[in-house]
Amino acid sequence: MEDFSNFGLIAPLAAGLQTAGYIKPTPIQAAALPAALEGRDVLGLAQTGTGKTAAFTLPLLQALARQDRRARPKAPRALVVLPTRELALQVGTVCELLGIQLPYKVAVIHGGVSLNPQIRMLAEGLDILVATPGRLLDLMNQGHCRLDAVEVFVADEADRMLDMGFLPAVKKIVAALPKQRQTLFFSATMPTEVSHLATGLLRDHVRVEVTPPSTTVERIEQSVIMLEPTQKAPTLVALLRDPAVEGAIIFTRTKHGANRLAAQLVGAGIGADAYHANKSQNARERALNAFRDGNTRALVATDIAARGIDVEGVTHVFNYDLPEVAEAYVHRIGRTGRAGRAGRAVSLVTAADRPLLKAIEKLTRQTIPLDLMGPAAPQAMPAIKPARPPQQQQSRRPKPAGGMGAQGKPPARRPGPRPASATGAPGAANGGGNAGSPQANTAGRHAGTGAGSGAGDQNGRRNGPPGGHPANRRRRGGRPQGGHAPAAKG
Ligand code: AMP
Repeated sequence: MEDFSNFGLIAPLAAGLQTAGYIKPTPIQAAALPAALEGRDVLGLAQTGTGKTAAFTLPLLQALARQDRRARPKAPRALVVLPTRELALQVGTVCELLGIQLPYKVAVIHGGVSLNPQIRMLAEGLDILVATPGRLLDLMNQGHCRLDAVEVFVADEADRMLDMGFLPAVKKIVAALPKQRQTLFFSATMPTEVSHLATGLLRDHVRVEVTPPSTTVERIEQSVIMLEPTQKAPTLVALLRDPAVEGAIIFTRTKHGANRLAAQLVGAGIGADAYHANKSQNARERALNAFRDGNTRALVATDIAARGIDVEGVTHVFNYDLPEVAEAYVHRIGRTGRAGRAGRAVSLVTAADRPLLKAIEKLTRQTIPLDLMGPAAPQAMPAIKPARPPQQQQSRRPKPAGGMGAQGKPPARRPGPRPASATGAPGAANGGGNAGSPQANTAGRHAGTGAGSGAGDQNGRRNGPPGGHPANRRRRGGRPQGGHAPAAKG
């Protein structure tokens, strides 16, 4: 499939694709779109980074456009259920971006924030609801949301919902859906429970699969530094002192390891934060925002948390610990080199890690070059000072344009997706968009609310900021019935 023109997309969606800078369909899109656009159920086996969001968002939007209906209060016309707040916001943004010329109101709902704005939005009526399961179920149980008008149901990252203990909530949500609907079901893997859930949900479905990425992106320059375990931290500090490292994601095996390393980096004067599933959603949000804005240079993350991170401008990925599962290597290093940019991936490998390195090289059918300059003479490096609390870090303000600023400050990192120019960005393999200015000219009616991670949602925490994501605060003029503003992603 050469471009999107063969799919029979309606003109507003073709315009949405242009805004997003998507020129050619990704393999999962090419595989899923024909059936999904016909209204068939689809089971998609695909990971994040494959373009699966558009693979379900385009059919969802087209299905809504086919029926000229208005959403009734408390009864969304399309529902996307997914595991985390981060993913919810990303999907909400893609709905906004691709639906930029359609008049649909989109809301992103998740736990950890006040229920009231969410209740209000549901009461006003919205077309597309993107929600984490726990909060959605709360709202349903309290009578603020009914699912009997859902025309399209999407389950995204079903295996991760299982991992996070959301399956019982998902089953209750599914039980409230009408029988007559389209279902698009996406999961990276198919454990038995997920497979059972899918079987119960899908009717006469088409199964599409993109093989898990086993090839690494060419523009990511990879290297391995062999070292002793005790050299890891000082070597990493030395590597991070290179001004070319504008934004780095560092992977550790454990959450505790991530906390410890982040504290060590801060102690060494490097702006860093830990990011993993055990952190409160407030802390995760703060960490991610500081990183996106360029106020911290390093995010120390575990694999599970990293799956939701889609931030442009990550110049480097460091594997402080190699992953236990080889596929995770491909996924991790894919955090850099996004949106057609170059990136570097450096793995710190000890003798004990050799079998893990071998497995990665076997999977990716490559030999990762040894960086003989490493371990960067760690003994010559200044000793790592004891950690000091993060608030003592010097904040790094973002610089408007790319490159290093006069004071050696990094450019702000922005979340993907963001729009390319209206003509489509060249090499927009990961193109996407900040749903900012282009949306200002449209007459869509969108809204979003809430903040909170899947974990927060699950635990019913109420510790998020009141307005949540800017998506949930910014509003723009809409249809006569007085809709909400777009969930513009900041
Ligand atoms: P996803 O797997 O949906 O999270 O998408 C991964 C990245 O690919 C995001 O940054 C999207 O904006 C981008 N993307 C999705 N589809 C396309 C496409 N057809 N062309 C270019 N970039 C895309």
